[in-house]
Amino acid sequence: MPDLTAGAMNALSPLVRRIVAPNPGPFTGPGTNTYLVGIDEVAVIDPGPDVKGHVDAIIGASMKERVRWVLLTHTHPDHAPATARLVKATGAEVVGFAKKDKDGSGIVPDRLVGDGDTIEGTEFGLDVLHTPGHAPNHLCFYLDEERALFTGDTVLDGTTSVVSPSRGGDMAKYLASLERLRKLRLAKILPGHGDVIEDPRARIDEYLAHRAEREAQIVAVLDDGPAKISGIVGRLYVDTPDALQEQAASMVQAHLIKLRTEGRVSGRDQKSTWKLA
Ligand SMILES: [Zn+2]
Repeated sequence: MPDLTAGAMNALSPLVRRIVAPNPGPFTGPGTNTYLVGIDEVAVIDPGPDVKGHVDAIIGASMKERVRWVLLTHTHPDHAPATARLVKATGAEVVGFAKKDKDGSGIVPDRLVGDGDTIEGTEFGLDVLHTPGHAPNHLCFYLDEERALFTGDTVLDGTTSVVSPSRGGDMAKYLASLERLRKLRLAKILPGHGDVIEDPRARIDEYLAHRAEREAQIVAVLDDGPAKISGIVGRLYVDTPDALQEQAASMVQAHLIKLRTEGRVSGRDQKSTWKLA
Protein backbone atom coordinates (compact mmCIF):
# COMPACT_ATOMS: atom_id res chain seq x y z
CA MET A 1 0.00 0.00 0.00
CA PRO A 2 1.32 3.45 -0.82
CA ASP A 3 1.87 5.58 2.23
CA LEU A 4 -0.20 8.71 1.74
CA THR A 5 -0.39 9.43 5.47
CA ALA A 6 -0.06 13.15 6.12
CA GLY A 7 3.37 14.14 7.39
CA ALA A 8 5.10 10.85 6.57
CA MET A 9 8.18 11.19 4.38
CA ASN A 10 8.13 8.76 1.51
CA ALA A 11 11.19 8.06 -0.63
CA LEU A 12 9.81 7.41 -4.12
CA SER A 13 13.21 7.12 -5.84
CA PRO A 14 16.82 8.06 -5.05
CA LEU A 15 16.06 11.64 -6.10
CA VAL A 16 12.43 12.16 -5.16
CA ARG A 17 10.70 12.24 -1.80
CA ARG A 18 7.06 13.00 -1.03
CA ILE A 19 5.34 14.46 2.02
CA VAL A 20 1.53 14.62 2.00
CA ALA A 21 0.01 17.75 3.54
CA PRO A 22 -2.71 17.35 6.19
CA ASN A 23 -5.51 18.72 3.98
CA PRO A 24 -7.52 15.70 2.80
CA GLY A 25 -10.90 16.38 1.19
CA PRO A 26 -13.15 15.85 -1.83
CA PHE A 27 -10.95 18.09 -3.99
CA THR A 28 -7.56 17.18 -2.56
CA GLY A 29 -7.81 13.40 -2.10
CA PRO A 30 -5.46 12.27 0.68
CA GLY A 31 -3.98 15.81 0.74
CA THR A 32 -1.64 17.90 -1.38
CA ASN A 33 1.59 16.18 -2.37
CA THR A 34 4.73 18.14 -1.60
CA TYR A 35 7.71 16.73 -3.48
CA LEU A 36 11.36 17.16 -2.61
CA VAL A 37 13.70 16.67 -5.56
CA GLY A 38 17.44 16.22 -4.94
CA ILE A 39 19.54 15.57 -1.86
CA ASP A 40 22.47 18.04 -1.88
CA GLU A 41 20.35 20.75 -3.42
CA VAL A 42 16.64 20.40 -2.90
CA ALA A 43 13.79 21.73 -5.01
CA VAL A 44 10.47 21.69 -3.15
CA ILE A 45 7.57 21.34 -5.56
CA ASP A 46 4.29 22.76 -4.13
CA PRO A 47 4.84 23.44 -0.43
CA GLY A 48 1.08 23.12 0.12
CA PRO A 49 -1.23 24.84 2.61
CA ASP A 50 0.29 27.05 5.29
CA VAL A 51 0.39 24.50 8.09
CA LYS A 52 3.36 24.83 10.44
CA GLY A 53 3.68 21.09 11.06
CA HIS A 54 3.80 20.43 7.32
CA VAL A 55 6.48 23.06 6.73
CA ASP A 56 8.44 21.65 9.67
CA ALA A 57 8.26 18.21 8.03
CA ILE A 58 9.58 19.64 4.74
CA ILE A 59 12.44 21.41 6.48
CA GLY A 60 13.15 18.41 8.71
CA ALA A 61 13.61 16.20 5.65
CA SER A 62 16.75 18.08 4.57
CA MET A 63 19.27 20.41 6.09
CA LYS A 64 17.47 23.68 5.63
CA GLU A 65 20.31 25.43 3.81
CA ARG A 66 20.01 22.75 1.15
CA VAL A 67 16.50 23.83 0.19
CA ARG A 68 17.37 25.99 -2.80
CA TRP A 69 14.11 26.38 -4.71
CA VAL A 70 10.39 26.41 -4.14
CA LEU A 71 8.69 25.45 -7.41
CA LEU A 72 5.00 26.22 -7.80
CA THR A 73 2.86 24.26 -10.26
CA HIS A 74 0.24 26.96 -9.64
CA THR A 75 -0.93 29.24 -6.87
CA HIS A 76 -4.24 27.72 -5.75
CA PRO A 77 -4.74 27.61 -1.96
CA ASP A 78 -3.98 23.91 -1.56
CA HIS A 79 -0.57 24.22 -3.29
CA ALA A 80 1.18 27.48 -2.55
CA PRO A 81 0.36 29.27 0.74
CA ALA A 82 3.20 27.57 2.71
CA THR A 83 5.69 29.30 0.41
CA ALA A 84 6.29 32.32 2.66
CA ARG A 85 6.89 30.23 5.78
CA LEU A 86 9.22 27.88 3.93
CA VAL A 87 11.19 30.72 2.34
CA LYS A 88 11.55 32.46 5.70
CA ALA A 89 13.10 29.33 7.17
CA THR A 90 15.32 28.38 4.24
CA GLY A 91 15.96 31.43 2.05
CA ALA A 92 14.92 29.38 -0.98
CA GLU A 93 14.24 31.05 -4.32
CA VAL A 94 10.59 30.97 -5.41
CA VAL A 95 10.10 29.83 -8.99
CA GLY A 96 6.75 30.23 -10.73
CA PHE A 97 4.97 31.44 -13.82
CA ALA A 98 2.72 34.30 -12.77
CA LYS A 99 4.19 37.66 -13.58
CA LYS A 100 2.44 39.32 -10.73
CA ASP A 101 -0.07 38.62 -8.07
CA LYS A 102 -3.11 38.35 -10.34
CA ASP A 103 -5.00 35.68 -8.46
CA GLY A 104 -4.84 37.14 -4.99
CA SER A 105 -2.47 34.45 -3.76
CA GLY A 106 -0.01 37.07 -2.51
CA ILE A 107 2.85 35.12 -4.04
CA VAL A 108 5.27 36.83 -6.39
CA PRO A 109 8.00 34.48 -7.64
CA ASP A 110 11.67 35.54 -7.37
CA ARG A 111 12.33 33.83 -10.66
CA LEU A 112 9.79 33.78 -13.47
CA VAL A 113 9.95 30.77 -15.71
CA GLY A 114 8.04 29.59 -18.72
CA ASP A 115 7.99 26.92 -21.33
CA GLY A 116 11.45 25.63 -22.18
CA ASP A 117 13.23 26.88 -19.06
CA THR A 118 15.18 24.50 -16.83
CA ILE A 119 15.96 24.56 -13.13
CA GLU A 120 19.49 23.17 -13.01
CA GLY A 121 20.64 21.45 -9.85
CA THR A 122 23.96 19.63 -9.47
CA GLU A 123 22.16 16.27 -9.43
CA PHE A 124 19.20 16.92 -11.70
CA GLY A 125 17.47 19.17 -14.18
CA LEU A 126 13.81 20.08 -14.07
CA ASP A 127 12.37 21.26 -17.39
CA VAL A 128 9.45 23.65 -17.23
CA LEU A 129 6.28 23.10 -19.28
CA HIS A 130 3.53 25.69 -19.29
CA THR A 131 0.27 23.72 -19.12
CA PRO A 132 -2.69 26.12 -18.79
CA GLY A 133 -6.18 24.74 -18.32
CA HIS A 134 -6.68 24.02 -14.64
CA ALA A 135 -5.16 27.44 -13.93
CA PRO A 136 -3.69 30.00 -16.36
CA ASN A 137 -0.32 29.94 -14.57
CA HIS A 138 -0.08 26.16 -14.31
CA LEU A 139 3.33 24.56 -14.82
CA CYS A 140 4.47 20.95 -15.00
CA PHE A 141 8.07 19.99 -14.22
CA TYR A 142 9.89 17.22 -16.06
CA LEU A 143 12.67 15.37 -14.26
CA ASP A 144 14.89 14.19 -17.04
CA GLU A 145 16.88 11.72 -14.91
CA GLU A 146 13.74 9.64 -14.24
CA ARG A 147 11.51 10.62 -17.17
CA ALA A 148 9.08 11.68 -14.46
CA LEU A 149 6.56 14.48 -14.78
CA PHE A 150 5.28 16.49 -11.83
CA THR A 151 1.80 17.38 -13.04
CA GLY A 152 0.34 19.47 -10.20
CA ASP A 153 -3.43 19.49 -10.80
CA THR A 154 -3.27 18.84 -14.55
CA VAL A 155 -3.30 15.05 -14.05
CA LEU A 156 -4.29 13.57 -10.69
CA ASP A 157 -4.60 10.18 -9.12
CA GLY A 158 -8.01 9.34 -7.69
CA THR A 159 -9.73 12.68 -8.25
CA THR A 160 -10.74 14.64 -11.35
CA SER A 161 -8.88 17.78 -12.31
CA VAL A 162 -11.29 20.68 -11.93
CA VAL A 163 -11.51 23.16 -14.78
CA SER A 164 -13.42 26.05 -13.27
CA PRO A 165 -13.93 29.15 -15.45
CA SER A 166 -14.41 31.31 -12.34
CA ARG A 167 -10.88 30.36 -11.23
CA GLY A 168 -9.20 30.86 -14.59
CA GLY A 169 -9.92 27.37 -15.87
CA ASP A 170 -10.13 26.87 -19.65
CA MET A 171 -11.29 23.57 -21.10
CA ALA A 172 -9.84 24.05 -24.61
CA LYS A 173 -6.45 24.90 -23.14
CA TYR A 174 -6.71 22.07 -20.65
CA LEU A 175 -7.32 19.51 -23.40
CA ALA A 176 -4.46 20.98 -25.45
CA SER A 177 -2.18 20.64 -22.41
CA LEU A 178 -3.20 16.99 -21.99
CA GLU A 179 -2.56 16.30 -25.68
CA ARG A 180 0.86 17.78 -25.30
CA LEU A 181 1.74 15.77 -22.18
CA ARG A 182 0.48 12.64 -23.89
CA LYS A 183 3.24 12.92 -26.48
CA LEU A 184 6.05 12.91 -23.90
CA ARG A 185 7.91 9.69 -23.30
CA LEU A 186 7.12 9.43 -19.61
CA ALA A 187 7.96 6.63 -17.22
CA LYS A 188 5.76 8.02 -14.45
CA ILE A 189 3.59 10.90 -13.36
CA LEU A 190 3.93 12.41 -9.91
CA PRO A 191 0.58 14.15 -9.44
CA GLY A 192 -0.40 16.98 -7.08
CA HIS A 193 -2.82 14.64 -5.31
CA GLY A 194 -2.82 10.86 -4.94
CA ASP A 195 -0.20 8.26 -5.67
CA VAL A 196 2.42 7.83 -8.39
CA ILE A 197 0.93 7.03 -11.81
CA GLU A 198 2.94 4.24 -13.44
CA ASP A 199 1.05 4.19 -16.75
CA PRO A 200 1.16 7.84 -17.81
CA ARG A 201 -0.09 7.57 -21.35
CA ALA A 202 -2.98 5.27 -20.47
CA ARG A 203 -4.02 7.64 -17.69
CA ILE A 204 -3.86 10.70 -19.94
CA ASP A 205 -5.87 8.82 -22.56
CA GLU A 206 -8.49 8.06 -19.90
CA TYR A 207 -8.68 11.74 -19.04
CA LEU A 208 -9.09 12.73 -22.67
CA ALA A 209 -11.71 10.04 -23.26
CA HIS A 210 -13.64 11.08 -20.15
CA ARG A 211 -13.74 14.74 -21.23
CA ALA A 212 -14.79 13.78 -24.79
CA GLU A 213 -17.56 11.63 -23.33
CA ARG A 214 -18.79 14.46 -21.09
CA GLU A 215 -18.77 16.88 -23.99
CA ALA A 216 -20.82 14.45 -26.10
CA GLN A 217 -23.28 13.99 -23.21
CA ILE A 218 -23.71 17.74 -22.82
CA VAL A 219 -24.39 18.10 -26.55
CA ALA A 220 -26.88 15.22 -26.31
CA VAL A 221 -28.77 16.92 -23.44
CA LEU A 222 -28.99 20.15 -25.46
CA ASP A 223 -30.12 18.14 -28.44
CA ASP A 224 -33.22 17.30 -26.35
CA GLY A 225 -33.83 21.03 -25.87
CA PRO A 226 -32.36 24.18 -24.32
CA ALA A 227 -31.24 23.82 -20.72
CA LYS A 228 -29.61 25.65 -17.88
CA ILE A 229 -26.34 24.41 -16.43
CA SER A 230 -28.15 23.22 -13.30
CA GLY A 231 -30.43 21.13 -15.50
CA ILE A 232 -27.50 19.61 -17.38
CA VAL A 233 -25.77 18.78 -14.10
CA GLY A 234 -28.98 17.20 -12.80
CA ARG A 235 -29.12 14.94 -15.84
CA LEU A 236 -25.44 13.98 -16.06
CA TYR A 237 -24.07 13.96 -12.52
CA VAL A 238 -26.72 11.82 -10.85
CA ASP A 239 -24.39 10.06 -8.40
CA THR A 240 -22.31 13.11 -7.56
CA PRO A 241 -22.37 14.00 -3.85
CA ASP A 242 -23.66 17.46 -2.86
CA ALA A 243 -20.16 18.67 -1.98
CA LEU A 244 -19.12 18.23 -5.61
CA GLN A 245 -22.21 19.67 -7.34
CA GLU A 246 -20.67 23.12 -7.66
CA GLN A 247 -17.57 21.60 -9.19
CA ALA A 248 -19.77 19.67 -11.63
CA ALA A 249 -21.48 22.91 -12.66
CA SER A 250 -18.06 24.48 -13.26
CA MET A 251 -17.00 21.56 -15.44
CA VAL A 252 -20.20 21.78 -17.51
CA GLN A 253 -19.73 25.52 -17.90
CA ALA A 254 -16.12 24.99 -19.02
CA HIS A 255 -17.27 22.51 -21.67
CA LEU A 256 -20.03 24.88 -22.81
CA ILE A 257 -17.60 27.79 -23.17
CA LYS A 258 -15.35 25.58 -25.30
CA LEU A 259 -18.33 24.52 -27.45
CA ARG A 260 -19.44 28.13 -27.80
CA THR A 261 -15.97 29.13 -29.00
CA GLU A 262 -16.32 26.39 -31.60
CA GLY A 263 -19.69 27.84 -32.65
CA ARG A 264 -21.60 24.74 -31.55
CA VAL A 265 -23.71 26.14 -28.71
CA SER A 266 -24.96 29.50 -27.51
CA GLY A 267 -25.55 30.73 -23.98
CA ARG A 268 -24.12 33.19 -21.54
CA ASP A 269 -23.38 32.05 -18.01
CA GLN A 270 -24.29 29.80 -15.07
CA LYS A 271 -27.81 31.22 -14.85
CA SER A 272 -28.78 31.47 -18.51
CA THR A 273 -30.29 28.92 -20.85
CA TRP A 274 -27.93 27.18 -23.29
CA LYS A 275 -28.89 25.70 -26.62
CA LEU A 276 -27.33 24.16 -29.68
CA ALA A 277 -26.23 26.74 -32.25
ZN1 LIG B 1 -4.72 20.91 -5.97
